Amino acid sequence: MDKKTGTAAELIGRLAAGERLSLDEYRVIIEGQNEKTRAVAASLADKVRTEIYGRDIYLRGLIEIGNYCRNDCFYCGIRKSNKKCDRYKLTKAEIMDCCREGYSLGYRTFVLQGGEGIFSVDEICELVSSVHSAYPDCAITLSLGEYPREDYARMFEAGADRYLLRHETADREHYEKLHPPSMSFDNRMRCLRDLKEIGFQVGCGFMVGSPFQTSLTLAKDLKFVADFRPDMCGIGPFIPAAGTPFENEPPGTAEQTVYLLSLLRLTQPNLLLPSTTALGTVDPDGREMGILAGANVVMPNLSPVAVRNKYSLYDNKICTGEESAQCAVCLERRMNSIGYRIVSSRGDIIK
Ligand code: SAH
Repeated sequence: MDKKTGTAAELIGRLAAGERLSLDEYRVIIEGQNEKTRAVAASLADKVRTEIYGRDIYLRGLIEIGNYCRNDCFYCGIRKSNKKCDRYKLTKAEIMDCCREGYSLGYRTFVLQGGEGIFSVDEICELVSSVHSAYPDCAITLSLGEYPREDYARMFEAGADRYLLRHETADREHYEKLHPPSMSFDNRMRCLRDLKEIGFQVGCGFMVGSPFQTSLTLAKDLKFVADFRPDMCGIGPFIPAAGTPFENEPPGTAEQTVYLLSLLRLTQPNLLLPSTTALGTVDPDGREMGILAGANVVMPNLSPVAVRNKYSLYDNKICTGEESAQCAVCLERRMNSIGYRIVSSRGDIIK
């Protein structure tokens, strides 16, 4: 190790002071993860987050609109070739019902997520404009995968405000080990650039502990965020899904995930950072740990209870049995118990 790069704790301090770090420095921080560096990173991250967002936690209502998918990502439980996946597609009326329920519970952002190619672009645009005219004070986020630029532009015109498309990994070779040859790193990156240029608030992100991930690929993920400057970054531990090529791979850890949440917060202080369901799945206190480490968003499930266990990106997902109202109350209680409060607002990024 190059001496002048310093120890992980020193580097975390430099990151918190607003310095840009090199790839190698990020790698040193990642390799230096232990109880002490996690605590240092979390307390600095909590401080910068509180300076910008206070103790407010933003809510996003997640509506899983369908689990058919044309893609075959090796890690994903709803991949095309998973014969164990019981497929569904919500109707427009069902989706509007989810929004109505969500609105009455205080949600002001709806995230429409699903497998790819279930709905035509016309259907997506019609859906977006219906939600937009019914709830003009709400933000609409789409998380529906890769499309040509013109299609993204139409979705934006129809009233979508934000788009989540995790980059999955910023290392090309790693990307190729997680996806079949029909998918490409270049197209993923092209999508993210197009979305930003069109004017969406854009979210990227990656799994923690995915197969073949190394400290170098993670360093590239952090550097990518530093350079791309997204509005959001979604990260959660990889969790093996039955019926996929990675079904016997070990899951990512809550500890590494919260460490990375803190490092993301320090890399870009105003980032919208969700404490994800996957984090709550690997550890019962995962979502609280994520907030305490610098996250400021939670995404409770607003999908109809009847389909929740079918949208299994990974095994043993939590919150598949309760109705939306129960999820909202439960999360509110969890956030209050650690000194944060859930606010009912669109929760746009503060620039
Ligand atoms: N099809 C859309 C959205 C659905 S997948 C898209 O491609 O964006 C949403 C996210 O879930 C993925 O980006 C991936 O990072 C995550 N995911 C998929 N399988 C997972 C698994 N086994 N463990 C943890 N996260 C997973």
